[in-house]
Amino acid sequence: SFHQIRKNEITQKSHLGQGTRTNIYEGVLKVSGGGELDLDYDYRELNNNSRDLRVVLKVLDASHQDIALAFFETASLMSQVSNIHLVFVHGVCVRESENIMVEEFVEHGPLDVCLRKDKSLISAGWKFVVARQLASALSYLEDKRLVHGNVCAKNILLARKGLEDGSSPFIKLSDPGVTFTVLSREERVDRIPWIAPECVRNVSSLSTAADKWSFGTTLLEICFNGEVPLKERTASEKERFYEKELGLPEPSFKELADLIGLCHTYNPAARPSFRTILRDLTQLQPHDLSDIGSISPDFS
Ligand code: ATP
Ligand code: MG
Repeated sequence: SFHQIRKNEITQKSHLGQGTRTNIYEGVLKVSGGGELDLDYDYRELNNNSRDLRVVLKVLDASHQDIALAFFETASLMSQVSNIHLVFVHGVCVRESENIMVEEFVEHGPLDVCLRKDKSLISAGWKFVVARQLASALSYLEDKRLVHGNVCAKNILLARKGLEDGSSPFIKLSDPGVTFTVLSREERVDRIPWIAPECVRNVSSLSTAADKWSFGTTLLEICFNGEVPLKERTASEKERFYEKELGLPEPSFKELADLIGLCHTYNPAARPSFRTILRDLTQLQPHDLSDIGSISPDFS
Protein backbone atom coordinates (compact mmCIF):
# COMPACT_ATOMS: atom_id res chain seq x y z
CA SER A 1 0.00 0.00 0.00
CA PHE A 2 1.97 2.90 -1.37
CA HIS A 3 1.62 5.41 -4.15
CA GLN A 4 2.92 4.28 -7.53
CA ILE A 5 4.97 6.83 -9.39
CA ARG A 6 5.33 6.68 -13.17
CA LYS A 7 8.85 6.66 -14.55
CA ASN A 8 8.29 9.83 -16.59
CA GLU A 9 7.46 11.70 -13.39
CA ILE A 10 11.00 11.40 -12.05
CA THR A 11 14.37 12.68 -13.23
CA GLN A 12 17.57 11.20 -11.87
CA LYS A 13 20.48 13.49 -11.02
CA SER A 14 23.76 13.13 -9.15
CA HIS A 15 24.79 10.04 -7.18
CA LEU A 16 24.74 10.66 -3.42
CA GLY A 17 25.97 7.38 -2.06
CA GLN A 18 25.42 3.70 -1.53
CA GLY A 19 23.30 2.01 1.09
CA THR A 20 22.44 -1.56 1.90
CA ARG A 21 21.80 -2.99 -1.58
CA THR A 22 20.84 0.44 -2.84
CA ASN A 23 22.24 3.41 -4.70
CA ILE A 24 21.01 6.85 -3.77
CA TYR A 25 20.56 9.68 -6.24
CA GLU A 26 19.32 13.19 -6.03
CA GLY A 27 16.29 13.64 -8.26
CA VAL A 28 13.27 15.66 -9.23
CA LEU A 29 9.65 14.58 -8.93
CA LYS A 30 7.11 16.33 -11.10
CA VAL A 31 3.91 16.83 -9.19
CA SER A 32 1.10 17.88 -11.44
CA GLY A 33 -2.11 19.40 -10.29
CA GLY A 34 -4.64 17.96 -12.69
CA GLY A 35 -5.59 17.21 -16.31
CA GLU A 36 -3.51 15.49 -18.95
CA LEU A 37 -4.39 17.85 -21.81
CA ASP A 38 -1.91 20.31 -23.25
CA LEU A 39 -4.60 22.89 -22.82
CA ASP A 40 -4.39 22.41 -19.11
CA TYR A 41 -0.65 22.71 -19.11
CA ASP A 42 -0.50 26.50 -19.45
CA TYR A 43 -3.22 26.77 -16.91
CA ARG A 44 -1.20 24.70 -14.42
CA GLU A 45 1.91 26.76 -15.03
CA LEU A 46 -0.05 29.93 -14.50
CA ASN A 47 -1.57 28.66 -11.32
CA ASN A 48 1.59 27.06 -10.12
CA ASN A 49 -0.17 23.71 -9.97
CA SER A 50 2.72 21.81 -11.50
CA ARG A 51 5.73 21.75 -9.24
CA ASP A 52 9.16 20.24 -9.29
CA LEU A 53 10.05 18.68 -5.98
CA ARG A 54 13.59 17.88 -4.98
CA VAL A 55 13.67 14.22 -3.99
CA VAL A 56 15.97 11.34 -3.23
CA LEU A 57 15.76 8.27 -5.46
CA LYS A 58 16.71 5.12 -3.64
CA VAL A 59 17.39 2.57 -6.36
CA LEU A 60 17.43 -1.07 -5.30
CA ASP A 61 20.22 -3.18 -6.78
CA ALA A 62 19.11 -5.83 -9.25
CA SER A 63 17.86 -8.51 -6.92
CA HIS A 64 15.59 -11.43 -6.27
CA GLN A 65 11.87 -10.98 -6.03
CA ASP A 66 11.87 -11.53 -2.25
CA ILE A 67 14.24 -8.62 -1.71
CA ALA A 68 12.12 -6.39 -3.95
CA LEU A 69 9.14 -7.38 -1.81
CA ALA A 70 11.08 -6.46 1.33
CA PHE A 71 11.81 -3.08 -0.26
CA PHE A 72 8.11 -2.55 -0.99
CA GLU A 73 7.34 -3.52 2.60
CA THR A 74 9.50 -0.60 3.75
CA ALA A 75 7.83 1.77 1.29
CA SER A 76 4.49 0.65 2.61
CA LEU A 77 5.60 1.09 6.25
CA MET A 78 6.72 4.64 5.51
CA SER A 79 3.49 5.36 3.62
CA GLN A 80 1.47 4.53 6.73
CA VAL A 81 3.16 7.12 8.89
CA SER A 82 2.88 10.84 9.17
CA ASN A 83 5.17 12.54 11.63
CA ILE A 84 7.30 15.68 11.43
CA HIS A 85 10.38 13.71 12.44
CA LEU A 86 9.95 10.90 9.90
CA VAL A 87 11.07 11.30 6.31
CA PHE A 88 8.23 11.56 3.78
CA VAL A 89 8.07 8.77 1.20
CA HIS A 90 6.29 9.85 -2.00
CA GLY A 91 5.98 6.32 -3.35
CA VAL A 92 7.66 3.70 -5.46
CA CYS A 93 8.53 3.77 -9.12
CA VAL A 94 9.19 0.67 -11.19
CA ARG A 95 11.55 1.61 -14.02
CA GLU A 96 12.19 -1.39 -16.25
CA SER A 97 13.84 -3.91 -13.92
CA GLU A 98 14.62 -1.30 -11.25
CA ASN A 99 12.64 -0.55 -8.13
CA ILE A 100 12.98 2.97 -6.84
CA MET A 101 11.78 4.49 -3.59
CA VAL A 102 11.09 8.19 -4.00
CA GLU A 103 11.44 10.21 -0.84
CA GLU A 104 11.73 13.73 0.41
CA PHE A 105 15.17 15.29 -0.02
CA VAL A 106 16.44 16.39 3.36
CA GLU A 107 18.61 19.42 2.92
CA HIS A 108 21.53 18.99 5.30
CA GLY A 109 22.31 15.30 4.96
CA PRO A 110 23.02 12.60 7.53
CA LEU A 111 23.65 13.20 11.23
CA ASP A 112 26.78 11.03 11.49
CA VAL A 113 28.62 13.26 9.02
CA CYS A 114 27.46 16.43 10.77
CA LEU A 115 28.52 15.11 14.19
CA ARG A 116 32.05 14.50 12.94
CA LYS A 117 32.41 17.55 10.72
CA ASP A 118 30.83 20.16 12.97
CA LYS A 119 31.83 18.76 16.35
CA SER A 120 33.46 22.00 17.47
CA LEU A 121 30.17 23.87 16.89
CA ILE A 122 27.83 21.32 18.48
CA SER A 123 26.74 21.89 22.08
CA ALA A 124 25.33 19.39 24.55
CA GLY A 125 22.01 21.25 24.36
CA TRP A 126 21.94 20.62 20.61
CA LYS A 127 22.53 16.92 21.21
CA PHE A 128 19.65 16.79 23.67
CA VAL A 129 17.28 18.36 21.15
CA VAL A 130 18.26 15.75 18.54
CA ALA A 131 17.88 12.92 21.08
CA ARG A 132 14.40 14.14 22.07
CA GLN A 133 13.24 14.50 18.49
CA LEU A 134 14.44 10.99 17.71
CA ALA A 135 12.74 9.60 20.81
CA SER A 136 9.49 11.34 19.81
CA ALA A 137 9.58 9.80 16.31
CA LEU A 138 10.19 6.35 17.81
CA SER A 139 7.51 6.86 20.43
CA TYR A 140 5.10 7.66 17.59
CA LEU A 141 6.07 4.40 15.83
CA GLU A 142 5.75 2.49 19.10
CA ASP A 143 2.20 3.82 19.58
CA LYS A 144 1.36 2.58 16.09
CA ARG A 145 3.05 -0.74 16.85
CA LEU A 146 5.42 -0.23 13.94
CA VAL A 147 9.07 -1.24 14.01
CA HIS A 148 11.76 0.75 12.23
CA GLY A 149 14.58 -1.78 12.33
CA ASN A 150 17.53 0.37 11.23
CA VAL A 151 17.95 3.29 13.64
CA CYS A 152 21.46 4.80 13.44
CA ALA A 153 22.97 8.26 13.00
CA LYS A 154 23.49 7.62 9.29
CA ASN A 155 19.74 7.21 8.90
CA ILE A 156 18.93 10.46 10.66
CA LEU A 157 18.82 13.42 8.32
CA LEU A 158 19.04 17.09 9.18
CA ALA A 159 16.29 19.32 7.80
CA ARG A 160 17.84 22.17 9.76
CA LYS A 161 21.34 22.15 11.19
CA GLY A 162 20.59 24.69 13.89
CA LEU A 163 24.20 25.62 14.50
CA GLU A 164 23.72 29.39 14.32
CA ASP A 165 22.89 31.37 17.43
CA GLY A 166 19.27 31.16 18.42
CA SER A 167 18.39 28.28 16.09
CA SER A 168 17.97 24.61 16.86
CA PRO A 169 18.35 21.40 14.86
CA PHE A 170 15.44 19.60 13.20
CA ILE A 171 15.82 15.94 12.32
CA LYS A 172 13.97 13.44 10.20
CA LEU A 173 14.46 9.71 10.68
CA SER A 174 14.95 8.10 7.28
CA ASP A 175 13.33 4.90 6.07
CA PRO A 176 14.98 1.67 7.29
CA GLY A 177 15.88 0.47 3.78
CA VAL A 178 15.58 -3.16 2.72
CA THR A 179 13.74 -5.01 5.48
CA PHE A 180 16.04 -6.58 7.89
CA THR A 181 14.55 -10.08 7.54
CA VAL A 182 16.22 -10.57 4.15
CA LEU A 183 19.71 -9.55 5.28
CA SER A 184 22.41 -12.20 5.44
CA ARG A 185 23.95 -13.15 8.78
CA GLU A 186 27.11 -11.34 7.71
CA GLU A 187 25.16 -8.14 7.05
CA ARG A 188 23.49 -8.46 10.45
CA VAL A 189 26.83 -8.93 12.24
CA ASP A 190 28.09 -5.89 10.35
CA ARG A 191 25.33 -3.88 12.07
CA ILE A 192 26.75 -4.60 15.54
CA PRO A 193 26.56 -2.49 17.80
CA TRP A 194 23.33 -0.96 16.37
CA ILE A 195 21.50 -4.22 15.83
CA ALA A 196 19.93 -5.69 18.97
CA PRO A 197 21.70 -8.86 20.17
CA GLU A 198 18.55 -10.99 19.90
CA CYS A 199 18.28 -10.06 16.19
CA VAL A 200 21.75 -11.28 15.28
CA ARG A 201 20.76 -14.79 16.28
CA ASN A 202 17.17 -14.72 15.07
CA VAL A 203 15.65 -12.34 12.53
CA SER A 204 12.13 -13.01 13.74
CA SER A 205 13.07 -11.28 17.02
CA LEU A 206 12.71 -7.87 15.39
CA SER A 207 10.39 -5.79 17.53
CA THR A 208 10.09 -2.34 19.08
CA ALA A 209 12.49 -3.61 21.75
CA ALA A 210 15.15 -3.93 19.04
CA ASP A 211 14.62 -0.27 18.08
CA LYS A 212 15.33 0.66 21.72
CA TRP A 213 18.76 -1.00 21.58
CA SER A 214 19.55 0.81 18.30
CA PHE A 215 18.33 4.05 19.84
CA GLY A 216 20.82 3.55 22.70
CA THR A 217 23.69 3.06 20.25
CA THR A 218 22.59 6.12 18.27
CA LEU A 219 22.66 8.17 21.50
CA LEU A 220 26.25 6.98 21.98
CA GLU A 221 27.15 8.16 18.47
CA ILE A 222 25.59 11.51 19.33
CA CYS A 223 27.46 11.79 22.64
CA PHE A 224 30.78 10.77 21.09
CA ASN A 225 30.60 13.12 18.09
CA GLY A 226 29.92 10.41 15.55
CA GLU A 227 32.50 7.95 16.78
CA VAL A 228 31.22 4.41 16.90
CA PRO A 229 32.12 1.88 19.58
CA LEU A 230 33.56 -1.43 18.25
CA LYS A 231 34.16 0.13 14.83
CA GLU A 232 37.64 -1.30 14.47
CA ARG A 233 36.72 -4.79 15.64
CA THR A 234 36.47 -7.77 13.32
CA ALA A 235 33.16 -9.51 12.69
CA SER A 236 33.98 -12.39 15.02
CA GLU A 237 35.13 -10.01 17.76
CA LYS A 238 31.85 -8.13 17.45
CA GLU A 239 29.88 -11.36 17.68
CA ARG A 240 31.83 -12.44 20.74
CA PHE A 241 31.16 -9.06 22.36
CA TYR A 242 27.42 -9.76 22.19
CA GLU A 243 27.79 -13.42 23.14
CA LYS A 244 29.62 -12.43 26.32
CA GLU A 245 26.96 -9.78 26.93
CA LEU A 246 29.56 -7.06 27.39
CA GLY A 247 28.72 -3.41 27.95
CA LEU A 248 29.38 -0.59 25.48
CA PRO A 249 31.34 2.49 26.62
CA GLU A 250 29.48 5.10 28.65
CA PRO A 251 29.32 8.84 28.13
CA SER A 252 30.44 10.95 31.08
CA PHE A 253 27.02 12.48 31.65
CA LYS A 254 25.61 10.14 34.28
CA GLU A 255 21.87 10.52 33.65
CA LEU A 256 22.29 9.92 29.93
CA ALA A 257 24.63 7.00 30.55
CA ASP A 258 21.97 5.41 32.76
CA LEU A 259 19.31 5.81 30.08
CA ILE A 260 21.56 4.33 27.40
CA GLY A 261 22.38 1.48 29.78
CA LEU A 262 18.66 0.67 30.11
CA CYS A 263 18.29 0.61 26.31
CA HIS A 264 21.30 -1.70 26.15
CA THR A 265 19.84 -4.37 28.39
CA TYR A 266 20.44 -7.79 26.84
CA ASN A 267 16.96 -8.90 27.90
CA PRO A 268 14.69 -7.16 25.35
CA ALA A 269 11.69 -7.21 27.68
CA ALA A 270 13.56 -5.13 30.28
CA ARG A 271 14.17 -2.12 28.01
CA PRO A 272 12.05 0.95 28.76
CA SER A 273 9.28 2.11 26.44
CA PHE A 274 9.92 5.07 24.15
CA ARG A 275 7.20 6.91 26.01
CA THR A 276 9.27 6.53 29.20
CA ILE A 277 12.51 7.35 27.38
CA LEU A 278 10.96 10.52 25.96
CA ARG A 279 9.67 11.57 29.38
CA ASP A 280 13.09 10.96 30.95
CA LEU A 281 14.86 12.92 28.22
CA THR A 282 12.44 15.79 28.65
CA GLN A 283 12.94 15.84 32.41
CA LEU A 284 16.71 15.60 32.25
CA GLN A 285 18.13 19.00 33.04
CA PRO A 286 21.79 18.64 32.28
CA HIS A 287 23.64 20.77 34.85
CA ASP A 288 26.79 20.83 32.82
CA LEU A 289 25.60 20.91 29.23
CA SER A 290 29.05 21.43 27.85
CA ASP A 291 30.32 18.10 28.93
CA ILE A 292 28.14 15.13 27.99
CA GLY A 293 30.62 13.27 25.86
CA SER A 294 33.93 14.64 26.89
CA ILE A 295 35.51 11.60 28.48
CA SER A 296 36.54 9.66 25.45
CA PRO A 297 36.12 5.98 26.13
CA ASP A 298 38.35 3.24 24.84
CA PHE A 299 36.97 2.44 21.39
CA SER A 300 39.67 -0.02 20.47
P1 ATP B 1 20.50 1.77 4.59
O1 ATP B 1 19.32 0.93 4.33
O2 ATP B 1 21.72 0.98 4.95
O3 ATP B 1 20.24 2.94 5.46
P2 ATP B 1 20.24 3.52 2.39
O4 ATP B 1 19.87 3.01 1.05
O5 ATP B 1 19.22 4.24 3.18
O6 ATP B 1 20.85 2.31 3.16
P3 ATP B 1 22.17 5.40 3.28
O7 ATP B 1 23.57 4.91 3.45
O8 ATP B 1 21.33 5.58 4.47
O9 ATP B 1 21.48 4.45 2.22
O10 ATP B 1 22.21 6.76 2.47
C1 ATP B 1 23.24 7.00 1.54
C2 ATP B 1 23.50 8.48 1.46
O11 ATP B 1 22.43 9.11 0.77
C3 ATP B 1 23.53 9.16 2.82
O12 ATP B 1 24.82 9.24 3.31
C4 ATP B 1 23.00 10.54 2.52
O13 ATP B 1 24.06 11.40 2.18
C5 ATP B 1 22.12 10.37 1.33
N1 ATP B 1 20.69 10.40 1.65
C6 ATP B 1 19.91 9.35 1.96
N2 ATP B 1 18.64 9.72 2.14
C7 ATP B 1 18.60 11.05 1.96
C8 ATP B 1 17.55 12.05 2.00
N3 ATP B 1 16.28 11.72 2.26
N4 ATP B 1 17.89 13.34 1.75
C9 ATP B 1 19.17 13.67 1.47
N5 ATP B 1 20.18 12.79 1.40
C10 ATP B 1 19.92 11.50 1.64
MG1 MG C 1 19.47 4.90 5.04
